[in-house]
Amino acid sequence: MAAAPSLRFAGPADLHLHSNHSDGTEAPAEVVRQAHAHGVRTLALTDHDRTTGWGEAGEAAQRLGMTFVPGMELSAKHEWRSVHVLGYLFDPRDEGILAETSRIRDDRIGRAERIVRNIGRDYDLEWADVVAQTALDATVGRPHIADALVARGIVRDRTEAFDGILHPREGYYEPHYAPDPLTAVRLITDAGGVAVIAHPVTAGRDRMMPVPFIERLIDAGLGGFEIDHRENTEAGKRRLHELAAAHDLIITGSSDYHGTGKPNIPGENTTATDMVARLIDRATGSEPLYP
Ligand code: AMP
Ligand code: FE
Ligand code: FE
Ligand code: ZN
Repeated sequence: MAAAPSLRFAGPADLHLHSNHSDGTEAPAEVVRQAHAHGVRTLALTDHDRTTGWGEAGEAAQRLGMTFVPGMELSAKHEWRSVHVLGYLFDPRDEGILAETSRIRDDRIGRAERIVRNIGRDYDLEWADVVAQTALDATVGRPHIADALVARGIVRDRTEAFDGILHPREGYYEPHYAPDPLTAVRLITDAGGVAVIAHPVTAGRDRMMPVPFIERLIDAGLGGFEIDHRENTEAGKRRLHELAAAHDLIITGSSDYHGTGKPNIPGENTTATDMVARLIDRATGSEPLYP
């Protein structure tokens, strides 16, 4: 008989890390190596809107004796609010997922070009600068524009870019297409995955979705909340714990590592073993890789 999932993995679990297949600065194998060096033993690669890093990350994790959980951070939008929905262990060949993620990624390209055109009116920045900062075929985002601004000597680092030029208040910002969170949750769930709202209560920037709307997401199959994340407010975490308890949801903790693109360190927040087990037990779309 196969051992229960909870007996097949051990050690700190970090379920939210990015590679250069989206806006992290390192290749998937290097992300895994960094996570291992920081004591992480179960990890999920969760690039924005794509799954192409799974193979390389999975192999690297196996070489290091780690458990690999395939994941993705799906871009969604509730009214004006950007909402990120983490999807775990779904079928990466699911037609709905493939169609929606390619639509988002395509629209992100035109949108990034529009932002660069806006910035180009006031600063010496061109689209080629952004292309030079983007790994082949990566999901393009503002972080790549930030890297181009750094390369041009216009800002010091990504943080300065996001606090200034890339902030919507500066007037260069453009939105990109993203599905409603209800659609995002259904897509992941229908593909056999588990949907978890990423950093649901960040300070100032986006605020939390209204509770009645979150309850609609739960009715639609939402599996849990990412509570232990450095950008969630303390008051917000308390509200999320209450909501999670009331609806018996999974709660996760993770670093949201982006390589050198953010100060976040692998393993700075982790997910409890029983919660990892619930996530794995609930999913039907794909399998984790065990050591
Ligand atoms: P976008 O989806 O293109 O609008 O860009 C949002 C992405 O930028 C998020 O996924 C974050 O990883 C990243 N980001 C947001 N704020 C910062 C920041 N202050 N420093 C570095 N990266 C950031
Ligand atoms: Fe990101
Ligand atoms: Fe996010
Ligand atoms: Zn993320």
